[in-house]
Amino acid sequence: MMIDFELSKKVKGTQTMIKAFAEQALRPIAREYDENEHERPMDIINMVHGFMKGGLGGGAGGERKKKGEKSEANLRTAVTVEEIFWGDAGVALAFSGEGLGGAAVRATGTPEQKEQFLTRFTGDTPVWGAMAITEPEAGSDTASIRTTAFKDGNEWVLNGEKIFVTSGKSALEDSDGFVVVWATIDPKAGRAGIKPFIVEHGAPGMEITKIEDKMGIRCSDTVSLSFMDCRIPEENILGSAEVVDKSKSKGFKGVMATFDATRPMVAAMAIGVGRAALDYLKQTLADEGVVIRYGISPNRMTAIERDVTEMEANLKAARLLNWRAVWMLDTGQKNSLQASMAKAKAGMVVTQISQKCVELLGPIGYSRKILLEKWMRDAKINDIFEGTGQIQMLITARNVLGFGRDKLK
Ligand SMILES: Cc1cc2nc3c(=O)[nH]c(=O)nc-3n(C[C@H](O)[C@H](O)[C@H](O)COP(=O)(O)OP(=O)(O)OC[C@H]3O[C@@H](n4cnc5c(N)ncnc54)[C@H](O)[C@@H]3O)c2cc1C
Repeated sequence: MMIDFELSKKVKGTQTMIKAFAEQALRPIAREYDENEHERPMDIINMVHGFMKGGLGGGAGGERKKKGEKSEANLRTAVTVEEIFWGDAGVALAFSGEGLGGAAVRATGTPEQKEQFLTRFTGDTPVWGAMAITEPEAGSDTASIRTTAFKDGNEWVLNGEKIFVTSGKSALEDSDGFVVVWATIDPKAGRAGIKPFIVEHGAPGMEITKIEDKMGIRCSDTVSLSFMDCRIPEENILGSAEVVDKSKSKGFKGVMATFDATRPMVAAMAIGVGRAALDYLKQTLADEGVVIRYGISPNRMTAIERDVTEMEANLKAARLLNWRAVWMLDTGQKNSLQASMAKAKAGMVVTQISQKCVELLGPIGYSRKILLEKWMRDAKINDIFEGTGQIQMLITARNVLGFGRDKLK
């Protein structure tokens, strides 16, 4: 299949429009919403909802095509995400939209469930979708989650604790919002028993127990949730309640299918933040009269020229890896390996670039007068959520070497 690295006119148009929006609407409020953690710019959120119904991770993208079908919806979303996160990562993460919750519905729901839950995001008012997998004893090892769901009459009853749920507060305050909660219906079945459930605003027995105070992406809310005999309708299980084949861990595959679609979007977030830091450094150097001599041999370059060109090369490499992962989604190809490679690279690159830029600008870089120190704080999360950098490398190594989980842990 052909790969074309030229963005289409339509995608370029989107890129130009979103860049202008990010520059004019997000940059000016970035510091304010970093200082006032968890406050949300509702005027901007409403405006973005108006022109991007369904949100960043869905609506326009997040859809896996059938093999042979072609689209550029995911590429357009990745380009949009990079521009918006170039503007401001914290505010961007607080935007309404399908989010991880919607992505889980797309990956695991029946056609009727997709119709029922995803259309909520395209209404007149902003709606948030969140997803809760992580527990105090289950982070990277998602398969060891302990939250249970058992059937009682025509309801499911959930018990357990979830932590670090992005947009959990926004999703549950909103009457149309929901959290997709992963719980086991058969602890003895291992991965095959783990299923996704839609838990909606106001479900009895569910409570927000903590709101995190974070280093970066401070505008976005991250919460802990407790479920004590939390009752939800029986039809709120996503997909089938059958524990099909214990050896093939069918139930759990939905988690991975969700991440295949969302990890490239996290990589795009990382690339946006990294580009913001690098653009700022390059502009400052240019203002100081420092010229980067592209094209000369690296051994004749000054230290700063070498640092800048290396950072640019790494950022481009991350973007190209990511566009491959996204192109595979758009053409209906399985992209688990490529999505993990892109996220591993982008998470590492944004962490290194943002720290290096702070270092190279010395006291100005460390000052809160400019946004570089904030980009350094906002960068790190990309190397943590939706699977840490180490876990992405583990998945990559397993895929490349053809080893199963039992052989490479
Ligand atoms: C701001 C924020 C938002 C989040 N949002 C969500 C959300 O919306 N929904 C959700 O479910 N979760 C969310 N998370 C949780 C996130 O996905 C987990 O924190 C992450 O998966 C790591 O899990 P852990 O924190 O338990 O770390 P651990 O799994 O305990 O890992 C600790 C360290 O050990 C390393 N490590 C672990 N296992 C291995 C291994 N086999 N090989 C090599 N190294 C390894 C890890 O890379 C890490 O460096 C969020 C987290 C944060 C901080």
